[in-house]
Amino acid sequence: MTRVFNFSPGPATLPEAVLRQAADEMLDWHGSGMSVMEMSHRGKEFIGIHAEAESLLRELMGIPASYKVLFMQGGAIGENAIVPMNLIGKTGSADYVNTGEWSKKSLKEAKTYGKVSIAASGEASNFTAIPKQSEWKLDPNASYVHICSNETIGGVEYHWTPDTGAVPLVADMSSNILSRPIDVSKYGLIYAGAQKNMGPSGLTVVIVREDLMGHALPITPSAFNYKTQADADSMYNTPPTYAIYIAGLVLKHVKERGGMAAMQEHNRAKAKVLYDYLDQSRFFSNSVARDDRSLMNVPFQLRDAALDEAFLKGAQAKGMIQLKGHRVVGGMRASIYNAMPIEGVRALVQYMKEFEQQHG
Ligand SMILES: *Cc1c(COP(=O)(O)O)cnc(C)c1O
Repeated sequence: MTRVFNFSPGPATLPEAVLRQAADEMLDWHGSGMSVMEMSHRGKEFIGIHAEAESLLRELMGIPASYKVLFMQGGAIGENAIVPMNLIGKTGSADYVNTGEWSKKSLKEAKTYGKVSIAASGEASNFTAIPKQSEWKLDPNASYVHICSNETIGGVEYHWTPDTGAVPLVADMSSNILSRPIDVSKYGLIYAGAQKNMGPSGLTVVIVREDLMGHALPITPSAFNYKTQADADSMYNTPPTYAIYIAGLVLKHVKERGGMAAMQEHNRAKAKVLYDYLDQSRFFSNSVARDDRSLMNVPFQLRDAALDEAFLKGAQAKGMIQLKGHRVVGGMRASIYNAMPIEGVRALVQYMKEFEQQHG
């Protein structure tokens, strides 16, 4: 068996140890005589799996007791509607910071449910930088301020936490959750699709401060009502049981690797290998402002786009896949989440050097 270095933005590479354990446990989980996939979500086995995943997430991220952790479905795109349905009713309006493709999608969807203001935008820089907080125009009457903490497509990431005063900060952390320590108490709500850094697709994690629940618009479907889900321990409807199980294994694996501080160190070291190479290259480039560069998704361009196809083919032949950039940005993109080993990034840079020597 040969495993590739998979640079996919999501669903993304998972730790091999997790996949091996899941394979070992596939037919008979811990002597239960069944697969996790076959378990009742209300049986004691799955309730234990669910509780352990939540408790690991709480421990790793340092989630305060005044926050609920919800395991939902619908993905981050679903949350683009579910967040305003649950939160915007308080005052009828919300502030959004536009830093690229994903925040654009979020604010567009929110307009269906209330008044949306753009508090700041990275448009002037063509979304290659996060607007400085001093340029933000925040409305003290907004129900919340929404950010995307890491723009998976554009490759810009917040390396600081915005101060939104008494207005709750809401973050789409789909592509950088669990990549570094964060202070959850600075946020009112955090959401993330699991398939970048936490597990398989199908699971959406929502971390919400308790006092923000209970203001849902009357049109909110019960399964998407945070209060309803919180009161039912995320079991109002059948949760994505197998995805929760795999996420639990990933969380255990991350804990064994040393938790958030260790992940941050590992991710910084990996990203440095790639950015250092890009910065000295005259053939490859990355156009993101240095202070705002993502440690998770690194877009880069070849000097001559006519060579893109040859670059991708050569990478594939060396067992490196999913490097094609998003059509909005073009060029290449290497997604280097927690589960991408540094060897994968070194192999990519080695290949880039060879390609540059050949074509540069
Ligand atoms: C991948 C991604 C999404 C989309 O998630 P879905 O699970 O497809 O709904 C939204 N926001 C960000 C930041 C992402 O990286």
